[in-house]
Amino acid sequence: MARYTGATCRLCRREGMKLFLKGDRCYTDKCAFARRGYAPGQHGQSKKKLSNYGTQLREKQKAKRIYGVLEKQFRTYYERAERIRGISGENLLRLLEMRLDNVVFRLGYGNSRAEARQLVTHGHFLVNGKKVDIASYKLSVNDVIAVSEKSRATEKFKVFAENPKTLPKWLSANPENFEGKVVADPAREDIDVPVNETLIVELYSK
Ligand code: SF4
Repeated sequence: MARYTGATCRLCRREGMKLFLKGDRCYTDKCAFARRGYAPGQHGQSKKKLSNYGTQLREKQKAKRIYGVLEKQFRTYYERAERIRGISGENLLRLLEMRLDNVVFRLGYGNSRAEARQLVTHGHFLVNGKKVDIASYKLSVNDVIAVSEKSRATEKFKVFAENPKTLPKWLSANPENFEGKVVADPAREDIDVPVNETLIVELYSK
């Protein structure tokens, strides 16, 4: 499975904002964007006005980076979103939110989506009682996500369960049982990612 292997903090600096890709570190003064809040590279500090295309491109890159999805897969999500009834941009975000790694992150298992993704690929989760280790697995309403019996006993998962996150409205959780459930499709207002999806649709519709 292909994935980005470069320096993570460069991605935030490139997008000109914190994308919170590294969990706890993002909230400390070790954050690279807090220390060097300009784009990486030799010309990173020079101010350039972005063209329309540039603005749309940056928005797409930002979404890809937040969800940890590469170009080809992102394009596939867009094509799928277009085929669903409704607003393509919102459908796109909804598809990304319903990825198993994202839901695991939203449920509080993992300090970042990257960590949640790793937990999934290492086989720590069950969906409706069956082991699923595919980070991009698409969840549906009423799916139950649970930590595997073996993993529940580990210190890491105990800590996650003892520190539950505030959940979006479309998820419910039962931390004592190491379980969560998708109770609805996420509405746009429940998706708190700083992305203007309309610009992404404009980019791909060219
Ligand atoms: Fe981005 Fe987090 Fe790195 Fe800061 S520490 S630059 S928010 S990934």
